[in-house]
This record gives sequence, C-alpha cells and structure tokens, in this order.
Amino acid sequence: MSALRYVSTRGRAPAASLSDAIAAGLAPDGGLYVPEQLPTIDPSAFDPKGDLAATAATLLAPFFAGDALADALPAICAEAFTFDAPLRPLARPDALVLELFHGPTAAFKDFGARFLAACLRRLRGEDARALTILVATSGDTGAAVGAAFHGQPGVRVAILYPDGRVSPRQAHQLGSFGGNVQALRVAGSFDDCQRMVKAALNDGDLQRDVPLSSANSISLGRLLPQMGYYAHAALGWWRMHGTPLDFIVPTGNLGNALACLWARAMGLPIGEVRLACNANTTLPEFFAGGDYRPRDAVATIANAMDVGAPSNFERLRWTWRGNDDALRRDLHAESLDDAAIRTTLLRHAREHGGVVCPHTATALALLDREPVRQGRAWCVVATAHPAKFETVLEPLLGQPVPVPPPLAAMLDRPAQAEPLAPDEATLDRWLRARSG
Ligand SMILES: *Cc1c(COP(=O)(O)O)cnc(C)c1O
Repeated sequence: MSALRYVSTRGRAPAASLSDAIAAGLAPDGGLYVPEQLPTIDPSAFDPKGDLAATAATLLAPFFAGDALADALPAICAEAFTFDAPLRPLARPDALVLELFHGPTAAFKDFGARFLAACLRRLRGEDARALTILVATSGDTGAAVGAAFHGQPGVRVAILYPDGRVSPRQAHQLGSFGGNVQALRVAGSFDDCQRMVKAALNDGDLQRDVPLSSANSISLGRLLPQMGYYAHAALGWWRMHGTPLDFIVPTGNLGNALACLWARAMGLPIGEVRLACNANTTLPEFFAGGDYRPRDAVATIANAMDVGAPSNFERLRWTWRGNDDALRRDLHAESLDDAAIRTTLLRHAREHGGVVCPHTATALALLDREPVRQGRAWCVVATAHPAKFETVLEPLLGQPVPVPPPLAAMLDRPAQAEPLAPDEATLDRWLRARSG
C-alpha cells in the first residue's frame, strides 16, 4: 500500500508522513495536519470478537500504511487502550452511555494521550536533546498527557492551564506529577494558553534551541485514536441491531466530536451526530446559520468545554471541503447554560440514581429533548468521571461522589504549579531558561 500523506488545513505546508505530522504537532504554516484524503473501510473488515485495541488497530491501519510506525501500530494500540470504554444502558430504551473515563486520569483524554506517548516513544530514536511536550489544557488533557509521559526519559512536559478555571481536583492532578512534568498556571483563559502554545510551536528560532512538540487535540496522534471507541461502540450496536448508532458528544475544542465524524466519514455505522456545548456559543451560532466568530471563552461548570475558539474547527471545515452550508445540514450544535446543566444533573440523579459529570450532563440535556424512538438509539458520550467535579456536584446533589482508586492515588500526592503571565514572550523565556 502506498503511504498516505498528510497536508495542512491551510494548504501552505509541504506534505508530510504520518510520523512527521505526529512529531510536529502543528503544521509549519500554522494549520492542522489532515490526511490528503480520509481512507474508507468496510465494517466487515473488523474482527467481531476483537477488543477495543484490535478495533482501533484495524481502523487506523490505512492511516499508518507505509509509515515508519506501521508495523508497531498493533503494539501502540495495545499500550494505549489498556482500559475499556463500556456501553451502558440508560433508563429510556433508545439510549446508551459510552463511558470514556476508565483510564488513569478519569477522562477520555487518556486514550489520545497514551496513544500519542506510545507513538513518540518510538519516534524519538536516538535524539540526544530532550523533547519538550507543550500542552494547553482546559482541565483534563494536561493530566492525561502528564500521566502518559511521566517518568519517560528524554521527554519533558509543560502543562499550561488557566488559573482558577479548572476544578480543584483537576488542578491538583495537574500539579501532582513532579519530575519531568511541570504545571504552569496561566493568569488567563484556556484560549490564552492555546494561543501561547501555538505561538511557541510556530516559532522557528525557539524550536532550534528547544525542540518542541504538542500534545493538544491539534495533534493527529491524539485525534486518530479517539476514532477507535466510536468505531468499537457503533460496530457492536450495528452487529446486534443492524442500525447505525447516533451520538451526542459534549464538545469544546471539537477533538472528540471530530473523531466521531471522521469515523462516520470512513464508513462506520454512525448515524446522526449532535454537538452539546456549554454557554460558549461559537459553534451553536455557526450551526444556526451565523458566521464562524471565535471569541473569548466564558467560564462554566462544564469547564473542560470552556472554549471560544475551537481549534479543530479548521479540520471540520476541511472535512466538508469548505462547504459551510453542507456542514450545517449534516451536523447540529446546541448550547446549554449552567442552569440547564444543573437541572439535568439533578433530574438524572433523581430518576436514574446516577451521577454524571457536568460535561456529560450537557449531552444528556440534549437527549432529554428527543422523543423516544423505535429501532434507533442515541449514544451519549460520558467524557469524565463525576468525581473530578465534586465541588459542582456535591453541593447540588447533597451526597458525596465516590472517587475511583487511580484518581484517589493522584490526589494523595502533593501538588505544585508555577504562575505564568498570559503572553508568548513569557513562555518563550520560561522554555529557554529550562532547556539544556
Ligand atoms: C476535553 C473535554 C471535553 C471536550 O472535548 P473536546 O475534544 O475538546 O471537544 C468534554 N468533556 C471533558 C470532561 C473533557 O475533558
């Protein structure tokens, strides 16, 4: 098979191999890497008895064909997908929950972070200089990336997070690694953190002195594996019921939802896809017919989705070949404010005895608006374990949220973060001062 090439969404960077695209993070023209074209795959190509790692390896094989990492793909998937993504029934007969929070840091970000780490471990080879992984986080990415790279020789991780805008437990997790993983609390928003990381990655001078890579959802090494759990869930449903599975995805930076849409575009049995957003309305306004207008993020109780300028929007537009009308026909996004999220959390706890995280609640709120159907099912994507958001949930529900053991272990460790001003020059100085 000839190797798939990867190009920039902005079209002004040379085509790259998958390995190079993963190592670089961002394309040199500031765009995001995408495959020259999305491969397709027949659902019958998957082993019906295969586990999640096997499904991911089959799904991703065409992306890796001909690349230096191709032979290692099954091993990479086995290292990344060491925990399950179970589908559980909801109280109504036409709905399920896909639980993506059974990894070490209790959010779906563990899948992508572990896959990226497994790729970079193999790509680093003999380079003697330490590689610095930069990651901007709205709460969960940083911990997942920190956990995935913690203790790995030759790699340092710098996590930038918006000070005061992540949950206390998220902040504790971010600062709890020590060693090669440093947390930086930025006096600004997630979008500031993301802008600073992008500027550093685009700065050729800095890159010559401090080898940098990114672990944000702009990295293909995180985006591609996220398709795995959508494929696995949809195939399982389709084999039993013969219908595609419809998804409602809590959305911030559009990484998780884009993975779902790419899996659908490849030919997997995925039907409708709905985006559930919090009070950050950039996407809902676009899908309601408005212009795409990135703006500052507003803080909400679903903080990991506090994004006003979703970076993967460039990839979304690329996927629809720049045809915004077609994009608006094929996809919907809705905004839920904090009051609606709280109402849904309470109702869900009362009616189902279940506690979900505030992000998952945005998706449940959209499900609530749908009439019960015959023969088709909605799959609500549960993006994090509720115990990460106890300061929102416990006062509301009046009961403690049990903490899963890996999260409890992380919370037992001391935590530390350095303050950082929200500008590119400060990050540049910080990186140079700590390199070498
Ligand atoms: C990151 C995150 C989201 C948003 O995912 P995107 O890929 O940025 O759209 C939603 N919920 C939780 C818990 C998250 O950590």
